[in-house]
Amino acid sequence: MAISIGNRIHLTTFLKDYFANNRTSSAFEIVVTLQEENTELLQILNDASAKMDAESYPTQYILPKLKNDGWLSLNDGLWKVQLSPDRCSCCFKSIGQIYIINIDLNRYCSWNCTEKCYYYANPYESNLDLYSDHYDQFETLLPKCIFFQENRDYSLKENRAVLDTMIRKLDSMIQDPDYSEVLRTKGTESCIDAEIYRMLLLLSQESQRLQVLLSGGALNVCVYCSSSLDEKYIVDQDGKLFCSDKCLDNFLEKNPREYEPHPYEDQYSLIRGSYIDILENWEQHLSSKENFLEAAVDEL
Ligand SMILES: [Zn+2]
Ligand SMILES: [Zn+2]
Repeated sequence: MAISIGNRIHLTTFLKDYFANNRTSSAFEIVVTLQEENTELLQILNDASAKMDAESYPTQYILPKLKNDGWLSLNDGLWKVQLSPDRCSCCFKSIGQIYIINIDLNRYCSWNCTEKCYYYANPYESNLDLYSDHYDQFETLLPKCIFFQENRDYSLKENRAVLDTMIRKLDSMIQDPDYSEVLRTKGTESCIDAEIYRMLLLLSQESQRLQVLLSGGALNVCVYCSSSLDEKYIVDQDGKLFCSDKCLDNFLEKNPREYEPHPYEDQYSLIRGSYIDILENWEQHLSSKENFLEAAVDEL
C-alpha cells in the first residue's frame, strides 16, 4: 500500500533528524527507534510494507532518495552519513558562505541545527563569545549586502543614504578593536580565529563593493545621455546628476516634476552659472591683464 505525500514528508523529516544524531545505522535500528519514539509513524510504515518487514518500505523507497541527495551511502546493509563542507552536518541542506563551525570542523547552517545536533562539540578555544556575536551580525549583514547590489537606483538620494549607512555599519564593525588581534594574526591562531577572520574578510569585500556603487558606477554618468560627468555637472532635487542643463531639460520634458521647485533652485542656478563661467574663462581673463594680477585673481 502506498503512503500519502504528507506521511512521506513526515518520514523523510524523521529520517533526517535520525541521521543527524546517528551517523551510521541499519534500517532495523531505525525501526527500533520508531518503536520507542513514534509509534504512529511505525504504524504507517507497517501498513505500507504490507506483508514485509516495516523496514522494507524505507529501504526501498525513502533511503535511496536520501542517498541520491548525496549525503547518505549504503555499505553492507549499513547506512552512513557522508559529511561534506558544502552541507549542514545536521539537516544536510547545502550551505553557502553563512555557517557555524565546531571543533571537529563540522558546519551547521544555523544555531538551530547546532543546538539540535548531538555531535556538535563546542570549540574549546578562546574568542568563542566574540565568534558567536560576530556570526550573529554576519548572518544578517551578508544577505543585506547582496540585496543592496541587486539593481537599485543609486542616483536616488534616499537610496544613497541607506547605502551610506550600511557602509558605515560594516566599516565600524570591521574596525572594531575587538577584532584587531584576529586581523593582525590573520586568523592563524585557532579554528575559531580563522572563522572570524574569514567572515571579516567577506564583509570588508562587500563594503568595498558597496563603496564602488556609492561613489563610482552609476554616479559618474549623466542620467539622461549616459556620457561621463565632469565638474560642470548639474544636480536635481532628487540627487540625480546630469552632464548639462540641456540634458536636465530633456529629462524633465519626459518626466515632468510632480512637486514645486526647490526654494533655492534659482540661487543654485546663478552660482553654478558663474562657476562655469570662471571655469571656462579664467585663463583668457587673466591673460588679458598686464598689471594688478593679484587683484584680478581676487576679482575672480
Ligand atoms: Zn542545518
Ligand atoms: Zn547628458
